[in-house]
Formats: sequence, structure tokens, C-alpha cells
Amino acid sequence: MIHSPHLFAEHSPALIGLAALLCLAGSWATSRFFQRIANSGDGLRADWLLLTSVSSGVTIWCTHFVAMLGYHADMPIGIAWAPTLVSLTIAVIGSAAGFTVAVLGDRTGSRRAVGGAIVGISIATMHYVGMSAMRTYTPVSWSVPIVVLSVVLGGGLSIAALHIGGRPTGERPRSNAMALLYALAILSLHFTGMWAFSITHSGNAMTLDSSIDRDSESVLAVAIAIMALATIGAGMVGYLIDGSTRAAALERFRTLAMHDSLTGLPNRTSLGERLELEIIATRESSSRLSLAVIDIDGFKEINDLRGHPVGDEVLRTLGHRMTSLVDASPGTFIARIGGDEFVALHRLESAELQEELDAFLRELLDVSSAPIEFGSDVIRPQASIGAAIFPEDATDAETLISNADLALYRAKADPYSQLCLYDPAIDERTRSRQGLLADLREAMVRDEFLLHYQVQTALPKGDVLGYEALLRWDHPKHGLVSPTEFIPLAESSRLIVTIGAWVLHQACAEAVRWDPPYRVSVNVSPVQLSEPGLVDTVRAALAASGLSADRLELEMTETAVFNDRDQVMRTLVELKAMGVGLALDDFGVGYSSLDVLRSFPFDRLKIDRSFLTGTSPQQTIELIQTVLTLGRTFGMTVIAEGIETPEQRDLLTLAGCLEAQGFLFGRPSSPDDIARTGQFRRSGGLAAPIIGERPH
Ligand code: C2E
Ligand code: MG
Ligand code: MG
Repeated sequence: MIHSPHLFAEHSPALIGLAALLCLAGSWATSRFFQRIANSGDGLRADWLLLTSVSSGVTIWCTHFVAMLGYHADMPIGIAWAPTLVSLTIAVIGSAAGFTVAVLGDRTGSRRAVGGAIVGISIATMHYVGMSAMRTYTPVSWSVPIVVLSVVLGGGLSIAALHIGGRPTGERPRSNAMALLYALAILSLHFTGMWAFSITHSGNAMTLDSSIDRDSESVLAVAIAIMALATIGAGMVGYLIDGSTRAAALERFRTLAMHDSLTGLPNRTSLGERLELEIIATRESSSRLSLAVIDIDGFKEINDLRGHPVGDEVLRTLGHRMTSLVDASPGTFIARIGGDEFVALHRLESAELQEELDAFLRELLDVSSAPIEFGSDVIRPQASIGAAIFPEDATDAETLISNADLALYRAKADPYSQLCLYDPAIDERTRSRQGLLADLREAMVRDEFLLHYQVQTALPKGDVLGYEALLRWDHPKHGLVSPTEFIPLAESSRLIVTIGAWVLHQACAEAVRWDPPYRVSVNVSPVQLSEPGLVDTVRAALAASGLSADRLELEMTETAVFNDRDQVMRTLVELKAMGVGLALDDFGVGYSSLDVLRSFPFDRLKIDRSFLTGTSPQQTIELIQTVLTLGRTFGMTVIAEGIETPEQRDLLTLAGCLEAQGFLFGRPSSPDDIARTGQFRRSGGLAAPIIGERPH
């Protein structure tokens, strides 16, 4: 009896080597596929899991069989194919189970370890089921400690492989480490397992000269290896193609996201990134950075009159010219940040800073204003440029852009200069105006407006005739802001229409509570008068408050009348027909046109307070008498504004003026304060006026 510790006395190093190579290649592929499970969207995870499991199963199984075929037993051995196929199934399904567990949920360390253990057990099961497929003529025996060692080795390495490879952020070095550990798991289990296998047989037993069989075994081994490599290779090609299309898609996406599709120039996002970098670079060197905002004047007209395709072509041409400017002057970056707005960054490195900046901006202006030919037609774009310099004008990106914008605003407003550099002395006023305008948009929503009322008095006795409503804005930061400051802003933005409607509703709702029932005068802006909705607004305010129309008077200046004569005439005639009174405010400082007095249905003339200052008493009396004569001629009463002193009042009385308004009789005050003086009593509660519009 010969006891052979190993069943396989001989082996083919080539086939063993092929098995090891196969194992390494398969493990590498498996680890890559495994990474993809974690990094894919839900839709693709199952596909990558399937590929990982097949790749892992095929690797384990083929490594085992190719290596097996590389060993030559010194006795005939048969292979039962049924358990062999079962072993392949175990390898694939066991891998699927293990890898699934490892990537479940948030891929905790313990989940990955359990997954690794499942895969390790399936490698071992595959191996020993595979070995059980061998049919020998004498009984085989196993060394249990070595079997245990093989399982511990294979299992431990497999746990390590999945633990490392399944970490939440998969990176290249991790998948390489996983591939190596995984190959070691398979190989160590295999070779340790082979060592556990021994046989006892008689020396003269059937020793075969099986060289022919061995050749065919080698062919079989090579065929299996080729099949396995082909399977793994196909998976890898898919992986690489997927990776490269993803990379290409990402690159394309980034280009699209960072560039403007019409001109091909970098867009606002790229500008933001570049500006941050340039600012850092400028901070570190002693250079300067200029930022210029370029806007094409009248671009809207080009679009409207010639069509959008022509507008697009103009922008494309400008983009093209600006690109060539970038190519020609180093340290320049140009982006298109909006419809017809471009931004140019230019590093100023020479000692002659001002000259360099001037030269660059001139060039930019030339490029942006050069004629563009369309067949026989020529478009001459006009550009305006505003520029600011880092770090002189601003110490951060946002302020730099904003200051260049302010300079641009000035350049656009000034018909004589297309190019303006930021100047804090001028531009900061614009900024505070713009800030105030932004706040004004919010003021209505935040309920920051209120009305004060100033008494209008009969002379000489001092009886109350009515009150003029004067708007106040209680700004959260600046306190009470004068209407002379915010009314022009509200007019330029048309917010006055909504604000004016609120004033009308509020004043009517207030006046209806007064006892005695005095008249209330409300100022209306030229902008409100040019809107066709004013009559409806007045009607709604009267209806909502229940104030009778003859207690309401509207004050307006001559400018309102001149703005849109026919429209204003229609409106005034309608208002008059409703019974609403009409007063011409600030008479004497504007055109003081007789035509206006003659043509428009005013009831009252308000003499501006400038009439009472700067002239001799005699002249004042004569001036007032002249206006009184005019008033009589056109059937209007006359009231004098801005009376501050008893002397002024006496002059008025002497001149024969019967109505006056001014600090002498009462400052504009809240209705509560006026009620406290006893001038009127207020009845009932004041319902909050409801108006349809909100400022936009
Ligand atoms: P206005 O309609 O001519 O109003 C008279 C202005 O003179 C008021 O200024 C008033 O406070 C001021 N005033 C009255 N008595 C005297 C005086 O004795 N001496 C001096 N120095 N000033 C006096 P306020 O309230 O600042 O309003 C200025 C202007 O703002 C108004 O001039 C009016 O044009 C406009 N405004 C006020 N409220 C509204 C409104 O609700 N809507 C519109 N569209 N404009 C309004
Ligand atoms: Mg007024
Ligand atoms: Mg006035």
C-alpha cells in the first residue's frame, strides 16, 4: 500500500499559470463591475449586479477547472458533469447573493463583511462540490484542518475584498485592491483545498499512460479558459464603452453648461469661476484686473425691426469678434452673460496702467461698434461700456461686477460718452437710488405707507375748509422718507399707479369718518393720469368708502396735463362729471399756461409757495392779485400754499386771497393728532382699503 499525501503527483505549470491569469483577469473585471453597481442609477444597478455575479461565478469556476486540468493524477480519474454544473450554478448564485448584500442600503461595513462571507462560502462550496465531481477508483480522504484552513483563508480574503471594494466612494485604487484580494481568495482556497485531498492506493494499481488523454485535457482547459476570458472580456468592453461614453457625455455636458450656445463664448457660470480665479491671481501678484460690462444699445430695436434671426446673427458676429480680441490680447476673457450683455476681464500688467486700460477698452468698443453687413444692408451696433478695476474699485467679485454695472448705467444714460469708468462719487448715488427703488417695491406689501393730512384754511377767520392728503413712507432703515425723494422713483417705475390707488382708497376711507365732513385733496401723478384706469380707481375708492364725490378733490400739476393732452382731458371731464373737484397744483412754477387754465375744467388754483418768497411785499400782493384775476376769469378759486408766517398771511389777506395752506395753520399730521386738536371728530373704525393690484 502506498500512501500518497497528494492525489496529484504531476502538474502542468502552463495550465496552472493560465488558471492564475484567468483568476486575476476575472477578479479585476468583477471588481470593476462591482464598483459600477454602487455608482449607477437605480435603473442600471440590476444589470451591473448580474454582470458582477456572472463574472465572479465564471472566474471562480473556470479557475478551479483549468487548474484541476493542469494537475495530472497518477491514477485514472473521471469527472461527473452533473455536480460540475451544479458547482458553476453555486458560484454564480452565491456571488449574486453576496454582492447584493454588500451593496444593500448605505453599504455599512458589516453589510459588506457579511456579503464577503457569503461570497467566500460560495467559493468554498463551489470548490468542494467541484471536487466531489471527481470519480476515483480508490477512496479519497480529506484533511479536515486543511479544509478548515482553506475556508478560513478564502472566506477571510473574500470578506476583505468586498469590504474594501464596496466602500461608499469607489475609487480606482480600491477596486485594484479588491481585485487582488479577490483573486487571492479564490486561488488560496483552491490550492489549500487541493492540499487537503489525499488518497491511499496500491503501488501496482492501474497506472495509466494517459498522454493522449492529457493532451485532450489540455485542449479542454485552454478552451474553457478562452471561453471564460471571452466572457469576462465582453463584459469589460461593455464597461469601458460605457465609461468612455459617460466621460464624453460629461465633457459635452460641461461644455454646454459653461458656454453660450449662440456665440460659443463662455457663459455667466464660466465667468463666475474665471473671475474668482483671476481675483486670487491678482491678489497674489501686483497686477490689476479690469472688468468691463458691454451692452449693445438699441439691440431690442434690431430684434423687433429686423427679426430675431438678424438679432442672433448680430450677436454671433460680435461674439466672433470678441473671441478674436481674446486671441489677440493675452490675459483677456470674454463671456456673454445675457441677451446683449457681455463681460470682458482683462489683466493689467504694464506699469502704464491707465494707458493699457484705455487701449483695451477702446479696442473693445471698436470691436463692439463696428458695422455688420447683411448683404446690401448694414447694421451699426452701438455699444456702451462700463468698467471697474480690482482691487481699487472693489475687493470682491460681486461688488466689482456691480460697480462696472453702475458705470455702464451712466454710460448708457449719457449721450456723449459710450465708455464710463466706475466713479464712487457719482455712481454711489445711483446705487442708493436703486436700493431705495428695490425697497419701494416691497413697501406696499410691508404696509410701510401712511397718510398725513394738512389743513386748508379760509382767510381771514381761519375756518377749516379741508385737508390735503400727503403720502409718507416709513422706511424700516431710513425712517420717514420724503415724497419728493420717492415719488419720482415710484413714477419712473410706474409703481405710482398702485401706490396712488392705495392713497385714494385710504384718503377716502379716512375722510368719510370726519365730522364735520371736510373735503379731502389727493395728489395724483402725471403717470396715473396717463393711465386709462384712473377714473375707475376713483370710482372704486368712493364706492368702497361711501365718500360723496364732492368731498374729494384731485390735485395735479401742469406737467400731467401736457403729457397726454387728449387722454388727460377725457379723464378730467369724466371725473368732473362724477362730481370730483380738480385743482391745479404748484401753479406759477411750471409753464403757467393760460391755455391750460382756459381748456381744462379746474375748480381751484394752488399758488406755489415760491410766490411768497424772494419778492417785495408789494410785488407779492400784485402777483397774487394777478392770479386771483385769472382765477375769477376762468371760474376758479385760488388757494395759496406754503404760508409760514403771520406776515405772509396778512399779505394774502391784503391781496384778497380767501384760502391758504401752510405750516402757520398746521403741519401735515396724522388724523389721530388732528382729531386730538379738536379740528374734527373721527367716527367708526377704518377698514383696511382693498385694492386689486400689488406693486410688482
Ligand atoms: P404738494 O402737493 O405741493 O404738497 C405740498 C408740500 O409742501 C408738502 O410737502 C407739504 O408738506 C409742504 N408744505 C406745506 N406747507 C408748507 C410750508 O408752510 N412750508 C414749507 N416749506 N412746506 C410746506 P410734502 O409732503 O413733502 O410733499 C411734497 C410733494 O410730494 C407734494 O407737493 C406732492 O407733489 C408730492 N406728493 C405728496 N403726496 C403725494 C401723493 O399721495 N401722490 C402723489 N402723486 N404725490 C404726492
Ligand atoms: Mg398737492
Ligand atoms: Mg403744491
